[in-house]
Amino acid sequence: MPYTNELCGLCRKLCCEYKTEEPLKKHTTFKIGGSCKILININSSDTLAEILKFLKKQNIRFFVLGKGSNILADDNGFDGVILKISKDFSHIEKTGETEIFCTSGTSLSELCIYAMENSLSGLEFAYGIPGTVGGALFMNAGAYGGELKDVVTSAHYLNEKCEICSAESAEMSLSYRHSVFSENPDWVITDVTFSLNKGDREQIREKMNELMHKRKDKQPLDFPSAGSTFKRPEGSYASLLIEQCGLKGLNVGGAEVSTKHSGFVINKGGATFEDVIELTDKVKKCVYEKTGYSLELEPIILK
Ligand SMILES: Cc1cc2nc3c(=O)[nH]c(=O)nc-3n(C[C@H](O)[C@H](O)[C@H](O)COP(=O)(O)OP(=O)(O)OC[C@H]3O[C@@H](n4cnc5c(N)ncnc54)[C@H](O)[C@@H]3O)c2cc1C
Repeated sequence: MPYTNELCGLCRKLCCEYKTEEPLKKHTTFKIGGSCKILININSSDTLAEILKFLKKQNIRFFVLGKGSNILADDNGFDGVILKISKDFSHIEKTGETEIFCTSGTSLSELCIYAMENSLSGLEFAYGIPGTVGGALFMNAGAYGGELKDVVTSAHYLNEKCEICSAESAEMSLSYRHSVFSENPDWVITDVTFSLNKGDREQIREKMNELMHKRKDKQPLDFPSAGSTFKRPEGSYASLLIEQCGLKGLNVGGAEVSTKHSGFVINKGGATFEDVIELTDKVKKCVYEKTGYSLELEPIILK
């Protein structure tokens, strides 16, 4: 790779950790995925801008990764650079009585705990979603009746020209598992501001614990997965349709429709990208034939 040495030099200059030929299975909750050319742990927005400028100038493919909790990565890997925006770019700050600012690599669950410790309510629903704030905004992540849309006020991002831009919530086209960022995957979210409500710390803690308990009770958290495998189809639930079609426990290679929660495909051990694709194709076909509903994959394919 002609650019590798130069890019590694740039990372060293910017004090960014990087790894070459890094297996993506180490960075996805599905534990699936071949190697990328270089994986760079982004540590600031300035660093991000410098690296993005380099990549764009040289026309090098890149992909932004958070905690990899909604990713299905190809076993053939990614012939480009992974910009990992996670714990090296994590900072939370209370910027107003009910306002919290955080950088995009912040863990969503850490943000929820910070809000609770500051007696701020509104983020309880997000406790237990295993992603970063950037990944959650990209996906408009949601659970138990709440979604990022309800609590985000604004964000900064670098656009396709590496210019720093800001967007108010209303400009983000936030809807079910969709945002302006998912329409523009070469934009990179750098920070997000949340507006919450004053609340009672103990009540917030109790709600968070209750929802975490529900997750542990209902979801197959003992196995690697990317969470819900299919988006919720209009008028029904993917898990319900899959169960009605008798597909619980169906498997291809190491990939299996969880017997605990039929909305999850899990990696029972050694599942490949192709196993998951073949299994989800079978599920989609059967559900369509038996119920008329078309299921759509929720995880982002990285190849
Ligand atoms: C056990 C389990 C339970 C889950 N439960 C839920 C749930 O209840 N609700 C829910 O909505 N989701 C759930 N998920 C899915 C996932 O956790 C969320 O979608 C999460 O928000 C993804 O964040 P991430 O940091 O892991 O992003 P990744 O999976 O790394 O990336 C997802 C997408 O976001 C983009 N992205 C990431 N960071 C940035 C950034 N800074 N700027 C621009 N783009 C970026 C990536 O390019 C990619 O396209 C679950 C997953 C698992 C494994």
